[in-house]
Amino acid sequence: MTRPRLMIPGPIEFTDEVLDAMSQPTPGHVDPTFIPIFGQALRDLRSVFQAGEAYQPFILAGSGTLAMDSAVANLVEPGDRVLVLDTGYFSQRMADICRRYGGEVDVLSVAPGDTVTAAQLQARLDQASYRLVTITHVDTSTGVLTDVPDLTAAAKAAGSLVVVDGVCAAAGEEMWQEDWDVDIYLTASQKAVGVPPGLALLVASPAALAKWRERKAPVASYYSDWGLWLPVMQAYEGGRPAYFATPAVNLVMALGVSLRQILAEGMDRVFARHRLVGDAFQAGIASLGLGQVPTHRSHAAHTLSCPRYPQNVDATSLLPRVRAAGAILAGGLHPAIRNEYFRIGHMGAITRSDVLSTLGAVEAGLRGAGYAVEPGVALAAAQAVMEAAAD
Ligand code: PMP
Repeated sequence: MTRPRLMIPGPIEFTDEVLDAMSQPTPGHVDPTFIPIFGQALRDLRSVFQAGEAYQPFILAGSGTLAMDSAVANLVEPGDRVLVLDTGYFSQRMADICRRYGGEVDVLSVAPGDTVTAAQLQARLDQASYRLVTITHVDTSTGVLTDVPDLTAAAKAAGSLVVVDGVCAAAGEEMWQEDWDVDIYLTASQKAVGVPPGLALLVASPAALAKWRERKAPVASYYSDWGLWLPVMQAYEGGRPAYFATPAVNLVMALGVSLRQILAEGMDRVFARHRLVGDAFQAGIASLGLGQVPTHRSHAAHTLSCPRYPQNVDATSLLPRVRAAGAILAGGLHPAIRNEYFRIGHMGAITRSDVLSTLGAVEAGLRGAGYAVEPGVALAAAQAVMEAAAD
């Protein structure tokens, strides 16, 4: 029997080429064969985030939370005012990390499923000035997509640095780090970047590096300190080995393969494919009569969907049945609405047949859980979206 497809919001299904790289014999981290692979991965990360030469990429062994920690530990000094735009669970995590490093944190919260508008942000910026504004590009607990260019423009005009958590968005949702003037864009390997869990990825702007250089207080985290990592990243990019702490060699090799695959497809095509897949899922879910957590289509993510359970269906009755029908999905995560919805991840090397097979499994699961669904309804709705785009 074939195994069910892993359709959660990370980790995701990885390409065969990426998995092959994971299973190669591990070279030493200063081996002459590894140095150019690491160097190219750093350059390619910049290209995937659409940032220029002056932007500094970091590839660290750790998860997405480490990427958040690295951004905040280096940019926030005790007493710095920080504004966290809160669109769900992971924005709250960012607020916690900022507090941990001594930030005076204000949180601009919206109801689960809503997004923060530039007007709401402007109203806050008119009242106080902030060293840092943090934005979650896609909050994985609500499926809400924020308008990063608009929010960033407002924050930058007010003199703040902008950190964007792109863990559930990078290499899926549109991002032009340099054109949009985002100071830190960060992610983890296991999502749309398409590499097994274990790498924290971030790219820092010249303004972010300048703020870090002007720090008065030392960076309170040892492992996250850019002062220890910067010489290592610069050395590998310059074709020389360097050591601070052992890199995750096989993961970096796999990242090299994945970033090449993404760039070979082209960023415009990668974003368009995710948009199409997101739209197809939205249409499929709507055709089943299910609501969704994002309160408006215009701010629904394209990397994951958050359908609401129909009446008398819950995680226990639905998710094991969907799994038996071929797709592993995730339950709710946002504490205020955890039992009201489930989550479907659709990012990375996702294909049209993944869309159809996953929706087929959702239909079968719903029927098994007692919700009347005519076979094929969601598939037809998704197919219509995908065929219209192909015309
Ligand atoms: N931010 C967002 C938006 C996420 O989705 C996640 C992980 N689901 C994280 C941060 C934390 O990443 P990790 O679990 O890799 O530490």
